[in-house]
Amino acid sequence: MKNDRLAWLQGPGADGAAKCSNVPEERKNPWRLILLGAPGVGKGTQAEFLRERLFACHLSTGDVFRAAGKRNDCDQSPAMKEAMQYMRRGELVPDATVWEMVRERSHCLLHCNGFILDGFPRTLGQAESLKELMEKEKLSLTAVVNYELPLNEIVRRLSGRRTCEKCKAVFHATERPPKVESVCDHCGGRLFQREDDRPESITVRLEAYERSTAPLIQFYKNLGLLLPIIAQGTPDEIAARTMDKLDRLSAGAA
Ligand code: AMP
Repeated sequence: MKNDRLAWLQGPGADGAAKCSNVPEERKNPWRLILLGAPGVGKGTQAEFLRERLFACHLSTGDVFRAAGKRNDCDQSPAMKEAMQYMRRGELVPDATVWEMVRERSHCLLHCNGFILDGFPRTLGQAESLKELMEKEKLSLTAVVNYELPLNEIVRRLSGRRTCEKCKAVFHATERPPKVESVCDHCGGRLFQREDDRPESITVRLEAYERSTAPLIQFYKNLGLLLPIIAQGTPDEIAARTMDKLDRLSAGAA
């Protein structure tokens, strides 16, 4: 868990407002990005890469739900407990719950040095809510990066994905295996398969993506914000492709 994401992962503190614990100096033109793409295209990996390059916060709604799921049963609100049920089945958590969670962390969106949203918005309703909030705050998105990958490749990536329970590093059972089976190369933590990466949940998640999230591609295309990126190749190759497009965008040539 990175220090700069504590406010995002834990939500509002006792004073009722989530605060960043690690804000470097204010940036003049912070990057405000959304990463789109089906589950398994590697948004989380790319978000971490971009976080290091662009100094913006990596904000993943899936990580917030997973962090909440690890909390003591009695520390979870009824809405969070319900959200866990949806998540385990691979279904989308209802918009009202997701938006409440994002809204109470809006400090992370509005006052940090930009953001890289990963896994949010995932429905048109969520995209509209975000747009309204940003318009109200007179902030604009820089771009919406859409990672594209064929379906068979997505299923292969998801079913082999293994995550470190301590540092969250991602491996692949066959393509990027750890040196010692089930042990993280970086911190020695145990590697696990996410509950929603099991075959029965993968199908449900991909259907939810097609039905609810794919329409966002057109939504952001219409707003002139879409940057399509081919998500084939190694994480480094995909990252280089992404930075190339973002560099061209900031130079006004994309
Ligand atoms: P992710 O790590 O982004 O794949 O998210 C894991 C799971 O968390 C999803 O399959 C959903 O159950 C839930 N989830 C995360 N973000 C959202 C969202 N924006 N809207 C609805 N459900 C979400």
